[in-house]
Amino acid sequence: MEKATSDPPRSAGAPGCDWRALGPRRQREYHTVQAMIAMHCRDRHGRQVDDCADCQELRAYAALRLSRCVFKEGKPTCQKCPVHCYRPDMRAKITAVMRHAGPRMLLEHPYWALRHLLDGWSPTPEAPRRRETSRLDGG
Ligand code: SF4
Ligand SMILES: [Zn+2]
Repeated sequence: MEKATSDPPRSAGAPGCDWRALGPRRQREYHTVQAMIAMHCRDRHGRQVDDCADCQELRAYAALRLSRCVFKEGKPTCQKCPVHCYRPDMRAKITAVMRHAGPRMLLEHPYWALRHLLDGWSPTPEAPRRRETSRLDGG
């Protein structure tokens, strides 16, 4: 079990994403999602996430969506998002990851789990107007 530390979980780097360029809110979400994907890969694929092409794709996609999130630093958790910008196939994959890793996060990554819980208590913003959401169609 990991200590309750704010250090990023191991294997926290998604391909092609400079998470340090994001603000603090999205950095938290980034580390949480990356940790959950790594946990799901270890338990369900029996691999290190860095060696799993399928999960590498999901990691990069999740990081891309986060970097382009229309709510920017005011984002809700993706579970509560009124837009949900993921493609249907990627949404199905990330839902499977959340279902598996969500209940285990408190044991393995308590700091990130608690921060995510607190972020989930923030009020959910209204969905942006259509003109803004149409920019999301590219990914
Ligand atoms: S638009 Fe919604 S689903 Fe997409 S990254 Fe932002 S909060 Fe998550
Ligand atoms: Zn995997």
